[in-house]
Amino acid sequence: MANYYFRVGREMDYDDVSKHLLIVGELSGDCFSCREVGINYSREKYCPQCKTDFKYISYRKSSGAVTTGAIAKLCAKRPDLVYVEYGDVKEIADHMKVKKIFK
Ligand SMILES: [Zn+2]
Repeated sequence: MANYYFRVGREMDYDDVSKHLLIVGELSGDCFSCREVGINYSREKYCPQCKTDFKYISYRKSSGAVTTGAIAKLCAKRPDLVYVEYGDVKEIADHMKVKKIFK
């Protein structure tokens, strides 16, 4: 058996992902929901500001800059969270903003 990390496509609820997403930056993490910064992404289960429980985790970097090794490292650190691509979240968020403007 040879287990490796793959980026997989899965249909999920955007509201759920965006409300419970922890973004990993250079040194610390931030809450995608309320934009609180300086969160310890290695151990925080809840946002200290808005108290949302984290279910998803993402690197802020573009997917091209994130290696599967880096994803593996993050998943090993936070097996309780599901890794998602930040680019996907951004793309949907931007699409929703545009839709709202032209409504
Ligand atoms: Zn928050």
